[in-house]
Amino acid sequence: MGLVAGAAAALSARSVFGAESSTAAQATALRAVKLSGSETTLEAAAVRDLRASMSGALLAPGDEGYESARHVWNGMIDRRPALIARCVSTRDVVQALTFARERELLLAVRGGGHSFPGYSTCDGGLVIDLSPMRQVMVNAAGRTVHAAGGAWGAHVDAATQAEGLATTLGQISNTGIAGLTLGGGFGWLSRRFGLACDNLVSVELVTADGEVRHVSEHDEPELFWALRGGGGNFGVATALQYRLHALNPTVLGGHVDYPHTQLRDVIEFYAELIAHAPREFSADLSLGTSEDGSPGAQIYALYTGEPKEGAKVLAPLQHFGKPLRNTIAPVKYVTAQTWFDPPPVDPLHHYLKGGFVREYSPGLVEVLTEEFRPDERSSMYFQNANGAVTDKEPTATAFSHRNVTSNMLLISSWKDASEDEAGRASVRAMWSKLEPYTDGYYVNLNDADPKSTDSNYGPNFTRLAALKRRYDPMNLFRLNANIKPA
Ligand SMILES: Cc1cc2nc3c(=O)[nH]c(=O)nc-3n(C[C@H](O)[C@H](O)[C@H](O)COP(=O)(O)OP(=O)(O)OC[C@H]3O[C@@H](n4cnc5c(N)ncnc54)[C@H](O)[C@@H]3O)c2cc1C
Repeated sequence: MGLVAGAAAALSARSVFGAESSTAAQATALRAVKLSGSETTLEAAAVRDLRASMSGALLAPGDEGYESARHVWNGMIDRRPALIARCVSTRDVVQALTFARERELLLAVRGGGHSFPGYSTCDGGLVIDLSPMRQVMVNAAGRTVHAAGGAWGAHVDAATQAEGLATTLGQISNTGIAGLTLGGGFGWLSRRFGLACDNLVSVELVTADGEVRHVSEHDEPELFWALRGGGGNFGVATALQYRLHALNPTVLGGHVDYPHTQLRDVIEFYAELIAHAPREFSADLSLGTSEDGSPGAQIYALYTGEPKEGAKVLAPLQHFGKPLRNTIAPVKYVTAQTWFDPPPVDPLHHYLKGGFVREYSPGLVEVLTEEFRPDERSSMYFQNANGAVTDKEPTATAFSHRNVTSNMLLISSWKDASEDEAGRASVRAMWSKLEPYTDGYYVNLNDADPKSTDSNYGPNFTRLAALKRRYDPMNLFRLNANIKPA
């Protein structure tokens, strides 16, 4: 990100790369940014050749479709790539990647575009955009699903649930499966079936050298280890294959809302609940506002096990405290997957800080009850991170946070760019009180702090850095929680 910021300062991204100053790439040379942050020129003929070699569209500022293609989910991220390669095939990915590597261009890879810090786009570089690649194929007999690298959770869930099957994916239906899985992948099913990356069977990966590799436990096992938690550091995942599990399309779930006055009791109850509940039960805690705008707490829960056991498992939650509202009822799993859906391109500006917590210690509970007050802009969310996630050793996959309880998130959203600085500052100020209770963070959510990126990979960092040198010595894939080649 430092490079992007440096390049933007030197070139003034808006005037150089914006549509207002540029004609379509067909006619003129394009100014672009290199990995080093310096400026370069892309000759019109070279861009034309790349366009001709691709089946999908190659968009430059001024081209029809460029403006809508450059937007990602977070409204705060307003960047203008020199080129957006709308890939429709693995071959397109290879062509675009080779073009970028040969010119040492700044490169971003976009799956679903849901990165909070905007890692899937850049100013002045080339974006490999997989959003046209969303095919999903279920092998019901073999209990696997094969999905293209631009698919969303919704595409995979719809196809697998049609067969009464599912795998762990995130809690938002329009999040890309690729970014989510490569960094870990928490969802309603992770407590029962492990992370999304724990359910990976194989990945079709285009590495920095342009090779298309089949990566699995048997083929390129070192890369397979790195892909399960190492984020987008090692290549472009053009297809991902997952193991599937039987899952009733109708499950039991909803949320129970409490007033802020019961917050301390709710947190303590919630901590006990997720420490002891069976793995078929998943519950998250939200500190947000109630329907009337007053601050409160909500426990979101989903039970995916045997229906006849559901009432018994949910009883402690059903009988706890004096709730304002209780929506728990039979619900389609695919509907539960849309409970929190934002628009795929959200005009709101979002900023987030997060970290894993091992326990709801008295100190943490004190900060949550006495210092944080949810309002229309700011909320907190505790996604459970225990159960089957903790079955693997921290070194079994690149994802190392295998002994925590929850992923604690502080999120703030606002409408206008003029509020960006104050919005980020207020999140950081609150986060400084919460961070002492965390133990590492989830690479898929935070803007990675270069000071802590290495240590956040824990005992796996040295192995990851060596693999990075082997597979991406130029650090072409750097817009992520970046592992520098050792
Ligand atoms: C509203 C919201 C809710 C979320 N909820 C959850 C949740 O419940 N559980 C959870 O685990 N996470 C959740 N996340 C975080 C989510 O996992 C990350 O944002 C993830 O990166 C999204 O993947 P994407 O493909 O949409 O991202 P993108 O923005 O496209 O990319 C994010 C990163 O992944 C890389 N990448 C993307 N696609 C590929 C690919 N095909 N090959 C190689 N690298 C790739 C990009 O280069 C970039 O570094 C949530 C995020 C948001 C915004």
